[in-house]
Amino acid sequence: NQQPATTKQSQETDSALPKGVVLDKDGKPCRTCTSVSSWRALTKQAKADSPTSSSSTTNTTSATSTTPTTPLTAPATHPEPSIPADCPPDVEALGRSTWTLLHTMAATYPERADTQQQSDMQGFLKLFSRLYPCWVCADDFKTWMAHPSGRNQPKLSGRKEFGWWMCEAHNEVNRKLGKKEFDCRFWEERWKTGWKD
Ligand code: FAD
Repeated sequence: NQQPATTKQSQETDSALPKGVVLDKDGKPCRTCTSVSSWRALTKQAKADSPTSSSSTTNTTSATSTTPTTPLTAPATHPEPSIPADCPPDVEALGRSTWTLLHTMAATYPERADTQQQSDMQGFLKLFSRLYPCWVCADDFKTWMAHPSGRNQPKLSGRKEFGWWMCEAHNEVNRKLGKKEFDCRFWEERWKTGWKD
């Protein structure tokens, strides 16, 4: 499973916590910033540290305690690394869904966008980079877009330019996470037309 890989994210990680767990701005673990495998390590740790844990108590009267499950505990019936469809997303599930939305927005963007359409998309991306629920991801995305050279500013004149820009934005994250880069010549086949036979 992919662990958050940026220096920034490691800085946000408390050394007493399992590797890859990212803290939110309130100091609590941030689920939407953390992979499901790290989250499960955290729930195991929380369980082991819990006073109701059978391994840490010698005076427990019943092995089948009715103490409510800690909210950090994930269902044990689902093998790693999949996350149950009806559970809150981890950083990866959130990312996959979000890329689907972003690339599909590019795929349905006008071939030639007028001033209003460009301004709407500019506004969306600006807000997106402030509101994306994985805050460390959002911060890095915002910083990338605001590169002082201006080279990463959204290219919004039309679908081709915007789709390519989105692909490059995604590749920036792929590189950061040590993933394979996507060949942007094929972004339209992946997200709009479907693969040629
Ligand atoms: P994803 O990267 O989610 O990709 C989904 C699909 O898109 C792939 O299967 C492929 O078919 C296609 N694809 C891949 N690359 C491209 C491309 N360049 N252009 C077009 N299509 C492509 N996770 C972290 O752990 N740390 C972060 O800092 C972080 N930042 C993120 C920032 C943003 C804005 C977003 C939306 C997500 C971020 N994520 C981050 C999540 C991360 O990018 C992945 O979504 C997640 O790791 C799941 O990866 P995946 O391998 O399933 O495929």
